Amino acid sequence: MTVTASVRPEVLPAAPKDLFIDGVWTKAAEGRTFRVLDPGTGEVLCTVADASPADGRRALEAAVAAQSAFAALTPRERQQILHRALALVAERREDLATILTLESGKPLHESRAELTSVAEWIQHFAEEAVRVHGSFQENPGVNGRMIVTKQPIGPSILITPWNFPLSQAVRKLAPAIAAGCTSVVKPAKETPLAVLAFVKLLADAGVPPGAVNAVTTSESNAVMEPLIRSGLARKLSFTGSTPVGVRLLEQAAEQVLSCSMELGGNAPFIVFEDADLDVAVDSLMVNKMWNCGQTCTSANRVFVHATLMDEFERRVTERLAPMVQGHGMDDGVTLGPLVNERQVRHVQAMVDDAVGHGARLVMGGHRLDRPGTFYPPTVLRDVPASAELMREEVFGPVVALIPFEEETDVVQRANDTDYGLVSYVFTESLRRAVRVAEALESGNVGLNRGTVAYAAAPFGGTKRSGLGREGATEGIEEFLETKFVALQL
Ligand code: NAD
Repeated sequence: MTVTASVRPEVLPAAPKDLFIDGVWTKAAEGRTFRVLDPGTGEVLCTVADASPADGRRALEAAVAAQSAFAALTPRERQQILHRALALVAERREDLATILTLESGKPLHESRAELTSVAEWIQHFAEEAVRVHGSFQENPGVNGRMIVTKQPIGPSILITPWNFPLSQAVRKLAPAIAAGCTSVVKPAKETPLAVLAFVKLLADAGVPPGAVNAVTTSESNAVMEPLIRSGLARKLSFTGSTPVGVRLLEQAAEQVLSCSMELGGNAPFIVFEDADLDVAVDSLMVNKMWNCGQTCTSANRVFVHATLMDEFERRVTERLAPMVQGHGMDDGVTLGPLVNERQVRHVQAMVDDAVGHGARLVMGGHRLDRPGTFYPPTVLRDVPASAELMREEVFGPVVALIPFEEETDVVQRANDTDYGLVSYVFTESLRRAVRVAEALESGNVGLNRGTVAYAAAPFGGTKRSGLGREGATEGIEEFLETKFVALQL
């Protein structure tokens, strides 16, 4: 398995690898760098700047200095920046997709799909930029008027994960720009390159110096905690794991920072006895195997009505067996590697734990013996409630099948988790669909479909899955502050 020779020389040498502070590409203090690996080979792709806390501080100070001028741009001017960014995404699509695949491992067709989604999010928030409304009304109690306006919340810290490096970053950057907020974005150390390339694209689209700054670091806590506690920022928007989110919320409490948190999930996927099995299996394939299962919306617990279980298992294994696992740049590959060794160890431990608690291993279950961090499609059946997999997300290509018989019982088991990001329901009964969708304790529900995230929809979690929403009008509201002006006549 090799990466074709034409790919690296063309894209990687030209890709930005430094910090972007106040409109200038800058080396980290003392020229420090860290390595970015190709998960498909385990080899080093390149090195990028490893910011110090002082570098991070300079980035945030640049965002603070740029805030009032950026907020003073008209909404139409900020919209035009986003429209130019949209055109540049189309122009640079192949380069960006290649970078995504090289650093994250996902197959090239998935990276291209991520770029389609990025374009949709930019388009959406370009439209939102000019639709921020206030109100003007009589004050019912006194001789006066009530004016309500929305203002940019202020300099924002954006921290993003490695699983969808670009589409997760754009969910924050596009609304921040639309709302008139300056920012410091910090991508995950596994996948810094796509975000740096995107920040360059934003600068080329006309984002003024200081309005978007990018900091890459191998020491996230050391660099970001002082920024969060500094009092210079007014917003923290984070996507990542729940334990890190909880830690950041504690840090943000000191300055009472406005926080948006897109955290982990433990999605139930419920297939009722009256489901269309073709639809359910198709949906599960996309839901579970996209990005090798490293998706916060991925089904963690697949509850299948006992009468369908044998047939469902047969169809799922039949669909998984011919998947082609390999380097994301190679033709015909349908499943890439996991992002790093840590993920491989995590997935292996979850599978071993489930088997240890009595689950039956139907297929897969052991990492592939080849360079890179490959874990095969895996199916477990009759996973018991005592397995770790029932409580924490596996974040890998593992289908955990659990039988059920009664609707009330499966809803209760689906809700028996600290998380509440997304749930999936498969049934041909409209009444049951509505009843169960309303009873499930999650921010999003997929009814007879396995994907739920769209730029025009408010996406977010309940319980330990998060705070706030990304997408829709709610997504820009996260970057706006409401101001009330009491006017005396
Ligand atoms: P992670 O929490 O380890 O890291 C997320 C980001 O936070 C990265 O940029 C990381 O470098 C940074 N980070 C880590 N520790 C930090 C600290 N102490 N201070 C500041 N920054 C820190 O998560 P991950 O492993 O990159 O991503 C996987 C997790 O993200 C999964 O739990 C997944 O469910 C979740 N996720 C959620 C959503 C959503 O929309 N709810 C979307 C994608 C991923």
